[in-house]
Formats: sequence, structure tokens, C-alpha cells
Amino acid sequence: MSAAQPLDVAIIGAGFAGIGAAIRLRQRNITNIAVFERGDRIGGTWRDNTYPGAACDIPSRLYSYGFAPNPDWSHTYSTSGEILTYIERIADDFGVRPFIRFGHNVNDLVFDEDAGFWRVHVETAAAPVYARSVILASGPLANASFPAIRGLDDYRGHKIHSARWDHTYDFREKKVAVVGTGASAVQIIPELVRQASSVKVFQRTPGWVLPRVNRPTHHLTKQIYRQFPIAQQVARAAWYWGHESVALGAVWNTPFTRIIEIAGKAHLRTQVKDPWLRRQLTPDFHAGCKRLLMSSDYYHSLQRDNCKLVTWPIDRISERGIRTAEGIEHQFDCIVFATGFDVSKTGTPIPVVGRGGRVLAAEWGKGAYAFKSVAVSGYPNLFITFGPNSGPGHNSALVYMEAQIDYIVAGVEEILARRVLLDVNEQRQDRYNVSIQRRLRSTTWNSGCQSWYLTEEGFNPTMYPGFATQYINQLRTFDVSDYDCASMPHSHAHSDSSRAPEVLRSSR
Ligand SMILES: Cc1cc2nc3c(=O)[nH]c(=O)nc-3n(C[C@H](O)[C@H](O)[C@H](O)COP(=O)(O)OP(=O)(O)OC[C@H]3O[C@@H](n4cnc5c(N)ncnc54)[C@H](O)[C@@H]3O)c2cc1C
Repeated sequence: MSAAQPLDVAIIGAGFAGIGAAIRLRQRNITNIAVFERGDRIGGTWRDNTYPGAACDIPSRLYSYGFAPNPDWSHTYSTSGEILTYIERIADDFGVRPFIRFGHNVNDLVFDEDAGFWRVHVETAAAPVYARSVILASGPLANASFPAIRGLDDYRGHKIHSARWDHTYDFREKKVAVVGTGASAVQIIPELVRQASSVKVFQRTPGWVLPRVNRPTHHLTKQIYRQFPIAQQVARAAWYWGHESVALGAVWNTPFTRIIEIAGKAHLRTQVKDPWLRRQLTPDFHAGCKRLLMSSDYYHSLQRDNCKLVTWPIDRISERGIRTAEGIEHQFDCIVFATGFDVSKTGTPIPVVGRGGRVLAAEWGKGAYAFKSVAVSGYPNLFITFGPNSGPGHNSALVYMEAQIDYIVAGVEEILARRVLLDVNEQRQDRYNVSIQRRLRSTTWNSGCQSWYLTEEGFNPTMYPGFATQYINQLRTFDVSDYDCASMPHSHAHSDSSRAPEVLRSSR
């Protein structure tokens, strides 16, 4: 792509969001697009998280795109492999694979004010690619993170991160440690205890665990869904509203939160008979404050003869294992880190430079914010998927993502039809965020526990404080009056025109 032929849209990332965006753009006949993907395969989260037991914890009927229903989900909750197959299939069915450029790691995005285009710098390319608009779909949970524990590099045994599983490693006859007891760990541990000779689980804080009833889909059900798509829509709607009702306790700290806690405690009581272990597994924060964990076999696996829960804090990693605070060294052949991701709460996944050289990472230094989570003032024609305050605590991320994508596509249509720069109005953005932060005060996430949702200062740039329905409704129409409009300079991308874009103010 030469500088003189800018893309209409550059999409960064070929996970669920990037693929979804490419599909919806193509359906609107916007095809001068490219998807830049640093990996060699699509799928993002579901390409990278292939650990044993990896699966979604939202039913697949809902954890899929509404515009691409799949009657063939094998179970209520699908495995990572099945979800990946789904993403690959929709990319093919909707014909977006040709737009993907694999092995293209985007280093940074710089807004070229003179040209009115974004410069997309790809690591391996000498010249930048120019684009009229950019969709940053690089995912909030795409970069695996090891914990900041002393001695991490001293360890001589095998190290595996849950998000970069080593399938060549044979766990049989091995002594294994699992660090972390979050959403990935509760899926991995039941599988590992079946393979390894012993497993020690290092827990910092126990989470709320609710049962996950996973049933195979009957072949007649699949047939009905195939022949009567409306039946599948009804099933999706039932799951959707079921999850929406959970918001009453999972999003807001209310008497319904106590009901979730009662359900969690009942689950713990029925599965764990030993009172001491039960005490070690009882959370000391409100349900929902950290991500709710869904598993029917995690507690069972902890009670197997070859499994042990360690609750002493980790002091350091040693050459042969893990040393805990009371001075004991636990020796292992392998340490599995189920320790999550490097989440950009106070910065950006890649450097983004907007109008007048402003740097988004600096502006987000105390915590990320955006207008309706998709646009940031000072960064015209740039849209973000799964951006600030769009995290759901109770419903499918894809429901939110689909709404974002359709909103963004409407914005892109506006940009291309009118050849404009759309820069979200700063006052509207501020008003939106004041309201979001005010509404967050009564949520479970802000009820006093430490979680990856919050910055160190306790600012919540991650979660959306409401029902999914509220989130979707606010994105249903792209209101140009929320944006300051400027006409795009007529110059080509490589022009040295110094004319600043003429400010039109919104025409609505
Ligand atoms: C283990 C796990 C389980 C989950 N389970 C659920 C669930 O059950 N329900 C739910 O609602 N949500 C779940 N989530 C959240 C999940 O991340 C999202 O639902 C969704 O997969 C995110 O899609 P995405 O496209 O935004 O990001 P990703 O899937 O992370 O895709 C981002 C893509 O961008 C690429 N990329 C990143 N940076 C660059 C760059 N600089 N240049 C080029 N390419 C780049 C990456 O390689 C990746 O392919 C889960 C997340 C994880 C990690």
C-alpha cells in the first residue's frame, strides 16, 4: 500500500473484535480495509489460550455473534478449540480472510494532522501505511503477564504461562505448581491433577466459585436450530435475559449480591467437607468484586490425594521451586503461571499519538477513559473495541463488542461519505465519564477488594456500571452531534500541506 492510496480502515488485531469489524464493514461495502495481525493465525484469545480445560464461561449460544449464529455448538460452554473454529469459519463464510495481513505487528499509530490520515507503523515495514480511520481491536487480554515475584528468572525447571501453553511438555510423573486461582486456573487445575503426579496450588485470595453445568447439545436441538433459526434466537434471548438478571447482584452491591454469595457458599459446602479447607477457600470480599469463577470440578480437584492448596504467600521463586513466606521451599519440575494479562489500565497497548502530538498513554496515565468506550477526544477517526469501561461482569463480552462494532461502522460510514474527521467532543466525553465514575461507586467492583479491574489508586477504567442492555442502547445510533467535525484535508497522505483542518462543528 503506498502512501498515496490510504486505506479507508485499518483494523489492528484479528481476534473476535477485529474479525467482527471486518465482517460488518464488508457487509456495508467498505472493502478498502486491512486487518493487521501480529500472529500467524486469527482468533486472538482463543488462538492463544489453549491450556487444558480452556473454555468460555458464558454459554456459547450467547458467547458468539448475533449476526453469525451457530446451531452446532457441541456443549452449553464450548472449548477454546471449538470457539477458534467458529471464529475461523465466520472469517471464511463472510469472506474477510483476504483482508488479513498476518505477521504484521503494529508498533504505533500516529495521526498526521496535515494529511488527516493515521500513519500505521508496522514493525517489519519501512514505510507506514496510511488510513482514513483506525479500529484498535488489539484486545484487553492479549499480552500474557508473569507476576512480579522475586527470582522468576532463577528457576531452572519448566515454566509455562496459561496463555502460551506448551503442548510438548509431558506432565506425567511430574511435580507441578500452579500459581494463581483465577478464571484460567480453575479450568486448568481439574485437568492437571489427572495428568501430573502431584499438583500444588498457590492461592493468594480465594474467589467466589459458582457451578458451571455443561451439557452436550442434543442432535435434535441442533437440527431444530438449523431448521428454525428463530428457535436459536429465542434460546439466545433466554440466556441473555438470564444473565442480565444476574447484574442485579454481580454489578451492583445489593441484597442480590448476598444471594450470589449464599449460592457460592452452598456450592463450597456441598463440595468441600473439611472445614479448614473450606475456610481457606472462603472469599473475604463481596461476590462480583473480582471476576466470578464458574466451575463444577475445581473444588473436587483440590481434594484429590495428589493435590494440595498452599495459602502461604510466595516469598520468591528459587532455582528449584517456590519459597513461601514461612521459609519452606517447595520443589517442582514445572511451574504453571495462571496469572493473567498485562491489562492497559493506565496506558495504551501501543503508542498512539493524536492531534498536536498528544500522547494517549500520557493522558491515560492515571487511568483510561473514552466516550462510550470507543472514541477519545483528540484522536479523530480512531475507534477502540473493548475499550475503557466496557467490561461486563455478568454478560457476554461479545454482546458489548457487537454493539461497539455496529456503532463504529456507522461512524466509519459517516467519515467516508462526508470525508470528515470525527473527533469526539471533549465536554461530552467528560460528562460521560463523570457519570460512569459516579455510577461505579455503588458497584461490586468498587466495593473494597483489589482486582485487575482497578488501578493502584482505585480508579476503575475497566468495567461498565450497568446492564448490557443500557450499554447497547447508548450505542444504537451514531450521533454525529457528539463529535466535532472537520473536513479532511484534500491533500494526499504524503503531502506536506500545513493547512489545519477547517473546523465545521457537527452539522446536526
Ligand atoms: C482465557 C480467557 C477466557 C475468556 N472467556 C470469556 C468468556 O467466557 N466470556 C466472555 O464474555 N469473555 C471472555 N473472555 C474475554 C475475551 O478476551 C473476549 O471475549 C474476546 O476474546 C476478546 O476479543 P478481542 O478481539 O477484543 O481481543 P483478542 O482476542 O485478544 O484479539 C486481539 C488480537 O490482536 C492482536 N494484536 C494485539 N496487539 C497487536 C499489535 N500491536 N499489532 C497487531 N496485532 C495485534 C493479537 O495478536 C490478537 O490476535 C476471555 C478471555 C480470556 C483470556
